[in-house]
Amino acid sequence: MTIKTGLKTLAVTGVLSILIGCAPTNDNGPEQEPTETEPTNQSDDPLDEDSQTDDFNEDSSRDTGEEEDVEDDNVTLDLEEDIFNPSSTAVLVNKSYSLNEEDAPDDLVLVDVPTVLESVEIRQMRQVAADALKEMFSAAEEEGIILHARSGYRSYQTQVQLFNNYVENHGEEAANRYSARPGESEHQTGLAMDVTSESVNYQLTEAFGETEEGIWVKENAHDYGFIIRYPEGKEAITGYIYEPWHLRYLGKDLATDVHESGLTYEEYLAEGGLDIEINE
Ligand SMILES: [Zn+2]
Repeated sequence: MTIKTGLKTLAVTGVLSILIGCAPTNDNGPEQEPTETEPTNQSDDPLDEDSQTDDFNEDSSRDTGEEEDVEDDNVTLDLEEDIFNPSSTAVLVNKSYSLNEEDAPDDLVLVDVPTVLESVEIRQMRQVAADALKEMFSAAEEEGIILHARSGYRSYQTQVQLFNNYVENHGEEAANRYSARPGESEHQTGLAMDVTSESVNYQLTEAFGETEEGIWVKENAHDYGFIIRYPEGKEAITGYIYEPWHLRYLGKDLATDVHESGLTYEEYLAEGGLDIEINE
């Protein structure tokens, strides 16, 4: 793990994202898809939402004797090492805590659910997450909810290529702002999957959150070990725009705990007493 301090200013460009044919994202473009060639149908510029003014500074338990505040039975404390362990399903990956080039899962498998894109690489997840995904998709289907997996694992090298292509096409300054830096994508863990549905034309769009499929995911994903990693209104904390499609596997117990807390993963860890960098 590489640990950096401070988060870069959130900046989003729908135009640039569309130019390179990936879903509009924030400056690090976590949803870039190497195999995608056609522009998405999404036209909303997430910046218009202007929801980045949320601050997570008021309730700063990490500033005030977090050791004393922590209770012995606090489940979060058990995560103290796991969140910095790239092979742990609890690993924390964001713009402050990034993965190294050599951090690659050794148990990737193809997901056994309906998918959208051809690329073999991004149809993979770690075994435990792939199993959980299948279980979740099956449960959804029993309720008439048909989900599709779009983008899962992405290697460090894939992200290097994406970033370099961006530099080539748009210059380094733009690349620094709008393309994901290698190591900073949760997709590198093999524990993330972007899901979508026919009702949004299999795109990764905020509108997914309002579909019956998106609502089902929001209400049930934790039962299968997943959380909505980038919730609405938490952009300043997670560093990413609202992504109702981006699911992160944490395991059933932890995912349920995080879900019930109503917090982002970063906030949940900080509230639990872990001294992690959340925002500048
Ligand atoms: Zn994603």
